[in-house]
Amino acid sequence: MCFLLISYEQFTCGHQVVVKRQKVSCTKSNCARSSHHRTDPHDCLGECVREMAPDRPFVQSWPDQHCDVCYYGAFIKLDE
Ligand SMILES: [Zn+2]
Ligand SMILES: [Zn+2]
Ligand SMILES: [Zn+2]
Repeated sequence: MCFLLISYEQFTCGHQVVVKRQKVSCTKSNCARSSHHRTDPHDCLGECVREMAPDRPFVQSWPDQHCDVCYYGAFIKLDE
């Protein structure tokens, strides 16, 4: 199954800021979201996987600083 790779920067204040989201393909021919999804006529609804696997968080860097919001003095609550 394909999934979304969520890349974060983890700041020293504890906030994680999403840098990018990219779809990672499982390359399977029986996955409707795959880059290798079969192109021949087939029973796509019946044969192919359509769900995405859970998002995968990935911390791409740990900047040695506070995030913009904290740096500029505002206060936000994390959603989770
Ligand atoms: Zn897939
Ligand atoms: Zn299909
Ligand atoms: Zn922050």
